[in-house]
Amino acid sequence: MDNEEFRDWSRRAADWGADYRASLRDRPVRPAIAPGKIFRSIEASPPEASEPMDTIFADFEAKIVPGMTHWQHPRFFAYFPANAAPVSVVAEYLVSAMAAQCMLWQTSPAATELETRTVDWMRQALGLPEGFSGVIQDSASSATLNAVLTMRERALDWQGNKKGLAGQARLRIYSSDQVHTSIDRAIWVAGIGEDNLVRIPVAGRFRAMDTAALEAAIVADRNAGLLPAGIIACVGGTSTGGTDDISGVAAVARRYGLYLHVDAAWAGSAMICPEYRHFWTGIEGADSIVFNPHKWLGAQFDCSIQFLRDPESHVRTLAIKPDYLKTHGHDGVINYSEWSVPLGRRFRALKLWFLLRAHGLENLRAMIRNHVAWSEGLAARLAGEADFEIVSQPMLSLFSFRHKPASSADDDEHNLRLVNAINDDGRIYLTQTRVDGRVAIRFQVGQFEATAEDVDVAFAVIREIARGMA
Ligand SMILES: *Cc1c(COP(=O)(O)O)cnc(C)c1O
Repeated sequence: MDNEEFRDWSRRAADWGADYRASLRDRPVRPAIAPGKIFRSIEASPPEASEPMDTIFADFEAKIVPGMTHWQHPRFFAYFPANAAPVSVVAEYLVSAMAAQCMLWQTSPAATELETRTVDWMRQALGLPEGFSGVIQDSASSATLNAVLTMRERALDWQGNKKGLAGQARLRIYSSDQVHTSIDRAIWVAGIGEDNLVRIPVAGRFRAMDTAALEAAIVADRNAGLLPAGIIACVGGTSTGGTDDISGVAAVARRYGLYLHVDAAWAGSAMICPEYRHFWTGIEGADSIVFNPHKWLGAQFDCSIQFLRDPESHVRTLAIKPDYLKTHGHDGVINYSEWSVPLGRRFRALKLWFLLRAHGLENLRAMIRNHVAWSEGLAARLAGEADFEIVSQPMLSLFSFRHKPASSADDDEHNLRLVNAINDDGRIYLTQTRVDGRVAIRFQVGQFEATAEDVDVAFAVIREIARGMA
């Protein structure tokens, strides 16, 4: 592709993107296709000769687009959102055109310094105290892995990386059972072992860890000669928005010298609104906090901020500093590759900078407040219907419900069939979860382009399909 063709195709891609976004409401959110159909439509062997871009692009439109689940669809109410505000897409286009590796200050000074600045903008926007610094990771899963590795190294007096875990005291990490599966995987990958992730019982509407039980577990482990290393708390768990009492947990962490990581991957975005910060009162006591601007806030995936109270212990755990990476003559510069597991790094700060400037915090707050209000409104409307019940009350913009037709013998089976029927219909998209062992349907409003009318459509579709099945 020569530069003129690059110009031409970039323009065509931009036109395509704008048309695509404008057409989303007319498309099914999730395609109704059988597994394997797209795979079979792609040539089994790679081409030897070059093909014209027109042909490649026509295949993209014919074979790929109809098989996409449209995450930017305004009636995507499944999982959590992965918003890519148009302005962040434009920034990503520029990043992709420059395609810089941003591992060291000197491999991209602007990327490094903008990252430091935008992370601090977000610190202020979330109301975190000065003194927290941070880094943009690819995902919350990576941030949590880094935090678990830091817990491990701190507890082992920095000997784990060097000597391995054989012969060391058994490390223990504590969390509730409401945390994301990325916590389990971090424990596996860090070599700590699932058996050493101690699940603390939860209580109350927000399924918070019982802090007395947490403390008792730590004391019992210490007395048994095990090595408590850290606590992972959550604000806005994936299933029903489970949220720990951060001040209570932080007090326990402090008392026993444990490292505290808080996973607020989804709910963190809402903390730009001061009225929601009660959900993480005491957050200044955390050592590490992760939140994903690539979820609710609108910064195109991937963009996950990890705030750190003491980056020293984090960098001490992760930095290698081989000779060929040494940057000479720049004392005090930050090399963000020392803050994460991968060496290579994308320029993730640009889209956040564009997003925050183009929308302003005021407009982002208004969007989040609307989502929360619309979600609460829908929960209230469903609660008012005799054949629906709310299983978990709204935590910000997330709640779960169940349909209870008089005729159904097996509620779980009925609700699984219902969620499939809703998704096959295509007008909206939802996912299910299990609450206290029983199937519930999750609902969250978080799409950048969603309107109150889209939520009205959801109400109509849910009732229509549920009642058609009963
Ligand atoms: C989405 C989510 C994660 C995982 O985020 P990734 O960035 O995809 O790794 C972890 N924890 C919570 C609470 C989440 O909502």
